[in-house]
Amino acid sequence: MKFDINKIRSQFPILHQQVNGKPLVYFDNAATSQKPQVVIDAEVKYYNEINANIHRGVHHLSQVATDAYEESRIKIQNHINAKNSFEVLFTSGTTFGINLVANGFGQILKAGDEVIVSHLEHHSNIVPWQFACERSGATLKVIPMLQDGSLDMEAYQNLLTENTKIVAVNHISNALGVVNPIKFIIDKAHQVGAAVLVDGAQATPHLKPDVQDLDCDFYVFSGHKIGGPTGTGILYGKEAWLNKLPPYQGGGEMIKEVTFEKTTYACLPHKFEAGTPNIAGGIVLGVAIDYLNEIGFDNIAAYEQELLDYGMQQLSKLKGIEFYGTTAEKASVISFNFKGIHPYDVGAIIDKLGIAVRTGHHCAQPIMNYFDIPGTIRASFAFYNTKEEIDAMIEALKKAQMMLQ
Ligand code: PLP
Repeated sequence: MKFDINKIRSQFPILHQQVNGKPLVYFDNAATSQKPQVVIDAEVKYYNEINANIHRGVHHLSQVATDAYEESRIKIQNHINAKNSFEVLFTSGTTFGINLVANGFGQILKAGDEVIVSHLEHHSNIVPWQFACERSGATLKVIPMLQDGSLDMEAYQNLLTENTKIVAVNHISNALGVVNPIKFIIDKAHQVGAAVLVDGAQATPHLKPDVQDLDCDFYVFSGHKIGGPTGTGILYGKEAWLNKLPPYQGGGEMIKEVTFEKTTYACLPHKFEAGTPNIAGGIVLGVAIDYLNEIGFDNIAAYEQELLDYGMQQLSKLKGIEFYGTTAEKASVISFNFKGIHPYDVGAIIDKLGIAVRTGHHCAQPIMNYFDIPGTIRASFAFYNTKEEIDAMIEALKKAQMMLQ
């Protein structure tokens, strides 16, 4: 498909509004993405025509809903190139997926075992591992970050020991947009027999992960960051690991047989999908993935790179600007500050001019502590943004600077 930005923008109704009397410029895509009309329509269609509980009823609607839900699972299996559809679990998002895995590890780790995370993680990929270590007596180790926002791969290799049981790292950092050398990280972890969980929350909007090629043991992401509904997400896990981990939540759907003496669990994926899931969300997530694939991830990556280059070029001209995450391996996320100005003040002023950016610690306080800053201004671009919008942000930032200096 030819990349036609005007056509693409026309498919996102929310973009065509005024905020504070100015055209909305939405540069908070790393927090959540906007939804194309096909996704909105699919959500309405589900409730208008299909709504029923799944996997249980023999009646028509229940069958239709079950088929649609399971077709979506297969769509996602194909999208990430999982070997089996039962290795693809529906979750409510990245946070849930990481907690599910970390909770399981919390029950199988022992004192003396080691868990490795990186300095670049979102709190969602730190705190659940702290829980797991507290519960099991395992030790949490951290891959250090370098000044340019990249991870210190030499230090990482020195952290790996025969006691390392799992390495949990993000594919792309949310706070800085840094792309991690994920295949290298996985490969090195496997050499000491450790499993690897990849937090793909920030990667999946920009690329199509191939979990077999990566050879990761777990890959998690959120539906709402890739054009899908909130409260949806995916946890991919290798069959052997999903069989090994204990279930996370007990309830309907996840059982084979229940007696008061002993309960046996359902096979994959149901063992990890207790209760009525977000049926509409799961189905519509498949629609969002179809939409992105129709545009094409090569087209998305090439266009976003243009936006990133242009954004960096224009922002670099502003006086007093300081960038964080300056390594060459970057997604279309720019984190910056102006010397002597608090990021919140800038964010609040440019919001009055219609520009939506994220300011703060981006749920990554260790990164802010490293740079000794309270937070950053983060502009994150999606394939429906434009260079003209970047120009509007630059003008707004100039005004903010004038007011605040
Ligand atoms: N991990 C990363 C890298 C993220 O960027 C985010 C959200 O911003 C999360 C985890 C948590 O995702 P969610 O809030 O959708 O569960």
